[in-house]
Amino acid sequence: MADLEQFRVETRKWLLAYAPAGVRGLMLALGEGNWGGRKATYPNPHLKRWLEVMAEQGWTAPEWPSQYGGGGLSKEEAKVLRQEMAALKLPEPLSGFGLTMIGPTLLEYGAEEQKREHLPKIVRGEIRWCQGYSEPGSGSDLASLQTRAVLQGDYYVINGQKIWTSYANLSDWMFMLVRTDPNAKKQEGITFILMDMASPGVEARPIKLISGSSPFCETFLTDVMVPAKNVVFKVNQGWTVAKALLNHERIMIASAFGSGAGKRRTIRDWAHEYVDFAGDRVADASLRQRMAQYEMDNLAFKLTTDRARDAAKAGRPPGPESSMFKIYGTELNQHRQELLLSIAGPQSLGWEGPGFDERELTLTRDWLRSRGNSIEGGTSEIQLNIIAKRVLGLPD
Ligand SMILES: Cc1cc2nc3c(=O)[nH]c(=O)nc-3n(C[C@H](O)[C@H](O)[C@H](O)COP(=O)(O)OP(=O)(O)OC[C@H]3O[C@@H](n4cnc5c(N)ncnc54)[C@H](O)[C@@H]3O)c2cc1C
Repeated sequence: MADLEQFRVETRKWLLAYAPAGVRGLMLALGEGNWGGRKATYPNPHLKRWLEVMAEQGWTAPEWPSQYGGGGLSKEEAKVLRQEMAALKLPEPLSGFGLTMIGPTLLEYGAEEQKREHLPKIVRGEIRWCQGYSEPGSGSDLASLQTRAVLQGDYYVINGQKIWTSYANLSDWMFMLVRTDPNAKKQEGITFILMDMASPGVEARPIKLISGSSPFCETFLTDVMVPAKNVVFKVNQGWTVAKALLNHERIMIASAFGSGAGKRRTIRDWAHEYVDFAGDRVADASLRQRMAQYEMDNLAFKLTTDRARDAAKAGRPPGPESSMFKIYGTELNQHRQELLLSIAGPQSLGWEGPGFDERELTLTRDWLRSRGNSIEGGTSEIQLNIIAKRVLGLPD
C-alpha cells in the first residue's frame, strides 16, 4: 500500500508536469479523441502532444508489458493512474480498436513476432485498425462467413466482401476472419488473419447512415495477397480467437456507451437549460422520476463495472459474462438519448438550418447513432442467447 501511495504521488507529479494545459478539463465526445493511424489529423495540437507524452511513457496502454511498448503497470497501479487522470480531468490520450480489441487479443494468442511488430505501433498511435468480421448474409450467424483464403506458397490469396467495417477507409490494418477450409464444419474452417489495408485489391467504400455520417464501409477484397505469417494462432482455429476478441469488444462497447462516459454535459445540465424547475427540482414529476431512475441505473452500472474490473484476476481475459455488460451498457445509453430528447423537446429534432445550435444538432445525430448500439458487437438477441447458454448454462 505504501508503494501504491508513493506511485500515486509520483503519477500526479508526472501528470501535472507533462499533460499540456490545453487538455485539462477537455471532455471529449465519442469519436472526438485521438484515433491514431497514418491518416490521422490532429486539429487540436495539445491533444497530439498529449498522445506523444503518454505513448512515450507507455501509458496509452498502461497494463501492457513494457517490452511491447506498454506501461508495464500492475492492475492496481493502472487504476491509480486512471483515478489521477480523472481527478485532473484529463482525457484518454488514444482510442481505437488497436488498444481495445486486437492488442489484448494478440497478447493472448499472437506469436512473439506478431506482438513485437504490432503492439508498439498501437501504443504509439501509429497504426489504426479495423475489424473485418461481418459479411452480407453473415452477421449474427458469423460462422457462416464466405470470404475465401487460399494458400499459394507463402501467401494467402483472399477474395470476398466484408460489410459494416467501421472506419475501414481511415484504417491502416484490418484483423479479419476468412474461410480456409470450405469442407469443414463451419466454425472449424475459419482462420483469423491480419491484413495491411494498403495491399493491392483492397477497396473500402463508405456507407451513409440515417445519422448523416459514414462511419462504416463495404470492403471488397479481390485477389489480395496476405503473408501466411499473418495468421494469428492456428489455421482453421480462428473461431477461438474471434470469440476472445468479441469479449474484449463487448466490454469496450459497454464502457464506451454506458455510464454516460466522456459526455460533456450531464442530464441535469441539459435539464437546467430546457425544462422548468420548481425550486431545485424539475417541475414535471414524470420527467423527474425518469431522470432519477437513469441517474441510479447509471451509478449502479458504473459501480458494477468497476467492481468486475477489480475482481478480475490480473491478466485474465473477459469471458461470456461480457455479454451482460454489453446489453446493459448499450440499453442504458439508448435510455439516456431518449431522455435527452424528452428534455430538449422540439429542439432535439433538428437536422440543419437556423433555429438549432450545434449541440442540439449533435443531440439528434447521437440519438440516431444510439440505435446501432444494440446491433454492433452482436445484437441484443444474440447477447441474450449467449447469457442463457454460456453464463446460465440453460439448455438449447
Ligand atoms: C454501428 C455499427 C458498427 C459496426 N461495426 C462493425 C465492424 O467494424 N466490423 C464488422 O465486422 N461488423 C460491424 N458491424 C456489424 C455487426 O456486427 C452486425 O450488424 C451484427 O452482428 C448483426 O448482424 P446483421 O446486421 O447481419 O443482422 P442479422 O444477423 O441479419 O440479424 C437481424 C435480426 O435478427 C435477429 N437474430 C438473428 N439471429 C438470431 C438468433 N439466433 N436468435 C435471435 N435473434 C436473432 C438479430 O438479433 C436481429 O434483430 C457493425 C454494426 C453496427 C450497427
